[in-house]
Amino acid sequence: MEDKPSKRGTATSSVHGGELRQQEANAITTPIYQTSTFWFKNSQEVTDYQEGKTKREEYGRYGNPTWRAVERKLSELEGGEETVLFASGMCAATTTFLALLQEGSHLIVTSDCYRRTRQFIDEFLSRMGVEVSIIEPSNLDQFEAAIRKNTAIFFTESPTNPYLRVTDVPAFVEVARAHDVKIIIDSTFATPINHRPLEEGADLVIHSATKYLGGHNDLLAGTVSGSSEIVTPIRKALGVLGGIIDSHGAWLLLRGLKTLSLRMERHNGNGLEVARHLETHPKIRQVWYPALESHPDFAIANRSMSGCGGVVTFEIETDLEGAMRFIDSTRVPYQAPSLGGVESLIELPVTMSFWDYDAEQRKSWGITDSLVRFACGIEAAEDLIADIDQALESV
Ligand SMILES: *Cc1c(COP(=O)(O)O)cnc(C)c1O
Repeated sequence: MEDKPSKRGTATSSVHGGELRQQEANAITTPIYQTSTFWFKNSQEVTDYQEGKTKREEYGRYGNPTWRAVERKLSELEGGEETVLFASGMCAATTTFLALLQEGSHLIVTSDCYRRTRQFIDEFLSRMGVEVSIIEPSNLDQFEAAIRKNTAIFFTESPTNPYLRVTDVPAFVEVARAHDVKIIIDSTFATPINHRPLEEGADLVIHSATKYLGGHNDLLAGTVSGSSEIVTPIRKALGVLGGIIDSHGAWLLLRGLKTLSLRMERHNGNGLEVARHLETHPKIRQVWYPALESHPDFAIANRSMSGCGGVVTFEIETDLEGAMRFIDSTRVPYQAPSLGGVESLIELPVTMSFWDYDAEQRKSWGITDSLVRFACGIEAAEDLIADIDQALESV
């Protein structure tokens, strides 16, 4: 018996969604099913299963009851029929592309696409004969102009990294539907608490669950949610490619998800307070945060998102050395890639994610030497602000 009334608040779905009310030994929590395979009592059970007469687990690469609970919880949170769980966000994205694109398909992505996703497109999909067009984030005119007869998918993050550009999903869906193009939103920076693209007509939502969904900087995972029709071939591809999460990782994700709604309230509050404070600071050149009126997508975010998360991007009035001094002077955040965990993380995109690109290329993406990405955790906002202020004194 799954605990799933028709419609309830995301705080309730975070806690109860997808959980079986009745567990072995009347336990409250879902067990870690640490097993690689599942046995059949007799040959009849095997044939009944093969003919689809019974629903059960078969072999660990095709499913495990611990991941099923995570998949159901996320389906409820995203408002999708079905969710598939993967070993990482990259695995979710690459398996999805491999499942849905064919030789000769055309894919549209945005210029600020996650670097490894871009690398997969350039190094692997191109070998498969997939054509690619790149447009500016949230640029509807460029999207419409880029569509060809063979366009199969438009893929974008929303908000994007590091400038937090927000896609007007309903507007993109209207154009995409007219041309039979599927829209995939990487909603990692939003989470289903802040934005639900499936309810706005997107075909699939992808997450790096490593970030907010897990939320504790302690696991890697990825998810894809959507209608059963589009998710089924992706699940089949996962069974072939094999990028499955282990049941302990799935259990950690399930545990993390129970506090998602609560954590997002704090991430949203901290992000907004830090962004507002930075905007008034004389040593800050510019701040990017979609809940600020100065952000190019303020109106879209205001309409479609209920919060803008913990990531704040800003440029300091200084050079690379000054920016490094600033980062090295902070005491609360850890200097590390990633975001979305309870601990605040800070990085200079130029030294962390874009180090192996030449200066010209970095410039074309707007990655300047004094650009900082601050991923607020769930600490007290005043402590984050005080720490930023004291660290800015070193600039
Ligand atoms: C981190 C991230 C990914 C990659 O996810 P992993 O879990 O690290 O594999 C993809 N997209 C976005 C937006 C991310 O932040």
